[in-house]
Amino acid sequence: MSIGKQYRSLVIRDAMIVNGKGTPPYGPCDILVQDGKIKQIQNVDSISLARYKNERPEAEHVIDAKGMYVTPGLVDMHVHINIADDKCGPKGTEYAYNLFLAHGITTIRTCGFGTDEKLLEHKRLSEGNEITAPRIVVLGSWPVEAHSVEETRIAVRKMKEMGVDGIKSIPRPHVTSEMVEAMADEARKVGLPAGIAIHHPVNCDLDAVISSNAAKEMLSIEHTYGIPQAALPGTQSFPPGYNYANEVDRFRMSGYIWTEAAKYPDRIRKVFDTLLENKTVWDPTMVVYEGHRDYQRVKSLPWHERYTVRQLWEAYSPSPGRHATHFFNWKTSDEIAWKHKYRIWMKWVKYFFDNGGTLVAGSDTAFIYALFGFALIRELELYQEAGIHPIDVIQIATTNAHKSLRDEDRTHGLRQGAPADIAIIDGNPLDNFKVMYGTGVNIYGEDGKTVTPGGGVRWTIKGGVVFDCKELLEEVAEYVKSQGPKKP
Ligand SMILES: [Zn+2]
Repeated sequence: MSIGKQYRSLVIRDAMIVNGKGTPPYGPCDILVQDGKIKQIQNVDSISLARYKNERPEAEHVIDAKGMYVTPGLVDMHVHINIADDKCGPKGTEYAYNLFLAHGITTIRTCGFGTDEKLLEHKRLSEGNEITAPRIVVLGSWPVEAHSVEETRIAVRKMKEMGVDGIKSIPRPHVTSEMVEAMADEARKVGLPAGIAIHHPVNCDLDAVISSNAAKEMLSIEHTYGIPQAALPGTQSFPPGYNYANEVDRFRMSGYIWTEAAKYPDRIRKVFDTLLENKTVWDPTMVVYEGHRDYQRVKSLPWHERYTVRQLWEAYSPSPGRHATHFFNWKTSDEIAWKHKYRIWMKWVKYFFDNGGTLVAGSDTAFIYALFGFALIRELELYQEAGIHPIDVIQIATTNAHKSLRDEDRTHGLRQGAPADIAIIDGNPLDNFKVMYGTGVNIYGEDGKTVTPGGGVRWTIKGGVVFDCKELLEEVAEYVKSQGPKKP
């Protein structure tokens, strides 16, 4: 059952519009929604009303959005839905989906590790509004058995038959550039619109240039793996005792890769010029690694208490026996190295942006204290930190994503005729992205005494179906409470 409400017609009154196309905000406007689409956008500012004497649209249901901003629904391009394990407790997927929707996220791209069949079922149920969930774009997990070009082509066809939208690949050392080329070629032929998301492990033979030249516009690169590697003349200066299988080693040395590559700025530029030329997409997913530059920050985020479920908290906790929990041995020097890394990384994110590259936004939830929904809003803040204007950041997190997923209908942003995927935000995200966090913001009265809670995405509309974000968050909070207290 979905808690989303469908109306014969719906009008959002007096909203400021950020349309997701990189153009400036305007309003207030009345937005009429019918049959899952935006039927009309009517300017109701005083000049328009005086000049055109327009009648304001009427509808079965009215949402009062005075003082609020609307954007297209956000897209989280990098998530892992834990179906196969109990990482999020008994309500695992429901818990994650509620948190996404509560942050204005109307589409998620799942990047493997789950069971693809189950996700495909959820995708279908979400499309019919039979479950409370964002729209799900399923990337099938690349099968490790494929060892040749021919086996690669067969594997892609099998994935198409299964019904996935694209491929998530973490290439093992046996994956060659010819195989990546065949993967992309076959994906074009059979029609996998979401293409290939690649995460280059440091120990594979491929890098960003090789994969980009092989898969071109079908490829999106996750994080930064493979990019500084392609710029270095040889390998990174690993110490003699380095062991890739040891995650402390792996993430510690990863903190130095951009600093080393930065000695070769011309080579880095060449790498990016190749990605730009090939129209390869980049999803830097900066947020998930923020714990490396400030472990205390990610561990003490204000939403954990109310919204992070005990089981997930345990899965985040440092342990030599679990992936991405290497903080039992994390030092001041590691955080400093990562702080340098972020500065250089962000500089090149900006370079890619400035030169017309397609950036998208992802969270890689739920790892390293990055929580569903909240983490994508943080990613928007990190994009702003990289020097990108908030109006452009909204475009990155909305229409750019749909463009890279080849979902033509949703690439035009908020305009008449477009599907009604809308986030209605209590506040102005261009002024402060923090108003989008489920925990909201406090508004301090000028008398120095009153503190009023405000902010938050108030409603999320997915294909015309209305979700009340406060209701979603309340449900999550009750679930988190029911699963018991977390160990500090
Ligand atoms: Zn991931």
